[in-house]
Amino acid sequence: MAKKALITFFLIVLGGIYVYHFNLTRSECVPIQGLFVRWGDYEREENIKTALQNIRVYSPEDYNRICTRASSIHITSFENQLVPFVSPDARGTYTPDRSNLAVKGIIIIDRDATDGSMVGLERTLVHEACHALLIQESADFSEEPCYSRDSEYFDLRPKELTEPKKAEPEKSLEQKSAELIEQTGEKSHTYCSLKEQNAPVAQGDCVFINYITESKQMCASVFLKQGGIKAVEQEVCGEVGAVDYRSISFELEYPENAQESDKYQFGFSPRDLE
Ligand SMILES: [Zn+2]
Repeated sequence: MAKKALITFFLIVLGGIYVYHFNLTRSECVPIQGLFVRWGDYEREENIKTALQNIRVYSPEDYNRICTRASSIHITSFENQLVPFVSPDARGTYTPDRSNLAVKGIIIIDRDATDGSMVGLERTLVHEACHALLIQESADFSEEPCYSRDSEYFDLRPKELTEPKKAEPEKSLEQKSAELIEQTGEKSHTYCSLKEQNAPVAQGDCVFINYITESKQMCASVFLKQGGIKAVEQEVCGEVGAVDYRSISFELEYPENAQESDKYQFGFSPRDLE
């Protein structure tokens, strides 16, 4: 009899674990992207997942909005990024697809907002999902309805929930640097891409990541090519702090005689070879 009870007990425990993991996976209805994947942003991604789970419990409607109105959630640092329509005190922003406002856009959360108060993070997600709904349904960019929406959420959400675990004690710069160099096999990383490609200028930015413990000057050459020949070229440079990253925007002017039909290809090459 005791044996049977024991087996039943284990089955219940295993079932519980299964259901818990199932729910955990299901709550990530939207991909979440940090900058340093699996390193500095790991805890921040975990906090966003917890926030999503809480919203799912307290306001399924807002949760569904996030899941159905956003294609992904990005973590960034607004001071380092050129994000249109973000007020200095903002904690999040909704970036619609400029070519079609009615389709899913991206919710961007400020890095500092992801490891502060959990309630604050939930409100930001609810607020941005509200913008997503308004913009997608009626190209409505107004703020007021979304402030009301996130304060309604705040009113209905219980206050006594435990706050998120703080990130582990900070590792030393040397430790971080060594881990990153080992993980990536690089001492630095450069990536440039275009955001807007409409003549007369192509706009984009370069992200420079420096894994070493000293700040350094990083450069990339960005260019527009046609038929394998560089038509326009420009150097993008910036000082990047120790074990830090920086995003620098650039503009490439199309050649004056460029025709609509001319096809230019964007390319870049990192300048610092170590
Ligand atoms: Zn807003």
